Amino acid sequence: MICPECGYNDSKVIDSRPAESKIRRRRECLKCTGRFTTYEIIEDIPIMVVKKDGTLEPFDSRKLIERMFRATAKRPVKLKTIENVVDSIQAHFKNNFQREVTSDKIGEMVLRKLKEIDRVAYVRFASVYREFDDIESFVKIISELQGENDN
Ligand SMILES: [Zn+2]
Repeated sequence: MICPECGYNDSKVIDSRPAESKIRRRRECLKCTGRFTTYEIIEDIPIMVVKKDGTLEPFDSRKLIERMFRATAKRPVKLKTIENVVDSIQAHFKNNFQREVTSDKIGEMVLRKLKEIDRVAYVRFASVYREFDDIESFVKIISELQGENDN
């Protein structure tokens, strides 16, 4: 940051506060001690997803919305509801300054939400995400749901 008074290129920050999607900083020039204000854009660093095979890919909210949309096909679930879930998951990682997250963690978060929203979609999503390859897996998850209903 160049001092607008003397053109010196080093300053110290004396105050920082968020201003919408920017950070407002009060700076003091290290040479002439002149004070000036800068607005710096907060860089939107992507959240990286660690997949099951250990490879990384950037968190893709559209992809997650699509997967959830497929699980909720023909169910009374609004697209807006799905978008809200994905937004809240993304916001959760951002607010915790979490830059890396496993695909497992995301899957479990989606499942927790879907369980409250629509149980058919929950079972469908679980079957894809947990790679159910036999009837027993379905029986197990459904009996778990039924067990919870009895309580
Ligand atoms: Zn200066």
